[in-house]
Amino acid sequence: MNSIAYLALGSNMGDRELNLLRAVAEIGKIRDVRITALSGFYDTEPVGPVTQDPFINAVLRCEISLGPHQLLDELQRIETGVFRRSRDIPQGPRTMDLDILFFDDLVISDDRLTIPHPRLHQRRFVLVPLCEIAPDLVHPLIRDSVKTILDSLPAGERVVRV
Ligand code: ATP
Ligand code: CA
Ligand code: CA
Repeated sequence: MNSIAYLALGSNMGDRELNLLRAVAEIGKIRDVRITALSGFYDTEPVGPVTQDPFINAVLRCEISLGPHQLLDELQRIETGVFRRSRDIPQGPRTMDLDILFFDDLVISDDRLTIPHPRLHQRRFVLVPLCEIAPDLVHPLIRDSVKTILDSLPAGERVVRV
């Protein structure tokens, strides 16, 4: 296990909490991944142009000896294979969304993967759970800690621990 990754989990279809628990179990089953921290679950108001039901969001930390693209392959396999996620409405409702937030302090930008996740610093539904497990983690591009980034956001959408 030679790297540390932070992942975001979200669901707003079906039994959202059960979906998150199942996703955590599936991530834990990936070969060469060991989950080392899991945030609480948060009920969150959807962000963006699509009117849709609230999400449950969480983040986790894992030790991993896969590369970032291999990790994305595994997460997409879980989204589509386990959760039968379809991608018909962009930014629309989904049974499971699994995003890579950070992968060590790597900075990647290619046609499949942008790391750090390009919108994480604007999203209370990511920063609030992340602050629970990694308040002092420094964003490699912004060079501020997760807690500092969260504290500097204006009050926004509802993010409530369940
Ligand atoms: P957002 O990126 O705003 O959270 P989303 O999660 O709804 O949007 P998806 O439809 O789930 O977007 O994913 C679209 C594509 O984003 C994926 O096919 C994947 O290749 C790409 N992608 C780029 N960077 C990342 C990342 N850090 N984690 C997960 N997917 C990523
Ligand atoms: Ca997402
Ligand atoms: Ca995604």
